[in-house]
Amino acid sequence: AEAAPSEVRVVGEPRVLTRHIGTIDATDLDAHRAAGTFGALEKALTSMTPEQVIEEVKASGLVGRGGAAFPTGMKWQYTRGAGSDPKYVVCNADESEPGTFKDRVLMEGDPFRVLEGMMLCGYAIGAEMGYLFIRGEYPQAAAILQEAVEKMRGVGLLGENILGSDFGFEIEIRRGAGAYICGEETALFEAIEGKRGFPRLKPPFPTTNGLFQKPTAINNVETLAAAPDIVMNGGAWMRQWGTEQSAGVKLFCVSGHVNSPAVVEAPFGVTVREVIETYCGGFIGTPQAVLMGGAAGGFLTPDQLDTPLTFEDLRTLGAPVGSGVIMVFNETVDLRDVLKRLAHFFAHESCGKCYPCQLGTQRQMEILDRVAEGQPQPGDMISLQDIGWTMTDASICGLGQTAAAAVLSALKLWPELVETEMSSQ
Ligand code: SF4
Repeated sequence: AEAAPSEVRVVGEPRVLTRHIGTIDATDLDAHRAAGTFGALEKALTSMTPEQVIEEVKASGLVGRGGAAFPTGMKWQYTRGAGSDPKYVVCNADESEPGTFKDRVLMEGDPFRVLEGMMLCGYAIGAEMGYLFIRGEYPQAAAILQEAVEKMRGVGLLGENILGSDFGFEIEIRRGAGAYICGEETALFEAIEGKRGFPRLKPPFPTTNGLFQKPTAINNVETLAAAPDIVMNGGAWMRQWGTEQSAGVKLFCVSGHVNSPAVVEAPFGVTVREVIETYCGGFIGTPQAVLMGGAAGGFLTPDQLDTPLTFEDLRTLGAPVGSGVIMVFNETVDLRDVLKRLAHFFAHESCGKCYPCQLGTQRQMEILDRVAEGQPQPGDMISLQDIGWTMTDASICGLGQTAAAAVLSALKLWPELVETEMSSQ
């Protein structure tokens, strides 16, 4: 595919991770270096130990932006401390959560930032090799990244003795083949290793047994894209935004019934209403429900739209920040149809390795199919809850553990969607 810039609107305040997007040609290495890109790498290589890099990342409060929100500095520390070599950096660019498109925007608009983040991680954990696993449906982003990697190689920013130091690093781009499950970290390792994308049982965790069973730091695109500014300016600098428990800035993917869908960069603590009214041209019609965090997320009701977008505030409402999805449904939408579509998605994407998810996603889909047709059967409400709780508690991986999250959230907020005299018998 042609390497062309992203067409997604990028807005917000402050612009930290996205500040070069749309202002500098994505693959113009000279222009990016003139604007400061790779300055953090140079700083780390010339004046910081790997441990100091890790300390700054820990001090920033950065947590994983792919949805799991694990503290990034801790992950890097555990990987560095794992007693075997070689170690690997993996960038999880298999952005497949419905409603998520922020990683694509970062990769298409500022690939060097993401690649610099991978190199900082490599220096911090003691790795010389990084893999970026990108979903197959992102040909444009893959082409842009490949071009960026080749330009870096051409000037010695990849390879041996980078910027005159002892540090050597290489990056390989690997493309997925269209399976949502390959965004699960251990299935992603299997895919890079050339095997079927089946999740592994955890523990052991990737920090000790990751790619090729070696210690691996696997991070989301947005997480790695935050590293250069943290290393350059210090962890405390990033903490000027957000709250104690939700530090820094976050990219939100706003779609659905809003006038101008966009990727919005904003500090944690902004509200859904502020994001939509300030940056997305307001709601279309009257909001009925807002899906947070994607298909694996949870719903907010219209009277919850002034809740601050932080991990701690959303947790109390049973909705996740997840990967930053804000999907708006107005009064014209039949939510039964939305639930049916979510159920079809998970039934299609379940890898089938474990029974709770393999069977649960099928049964959930069958019930929600008939609910959407207005024909619930006796006990359907109870069955949906039983199936949902079983999948959540007994599935091997995050897909099955969250395949009922949005459905259970909707049943709690709007039981009338399924609950008839018949369905709750
Ligand atoms: Fe596969 Fe689902 Fe089990 Fe995950 S939970 S291993 S996707 S069957």
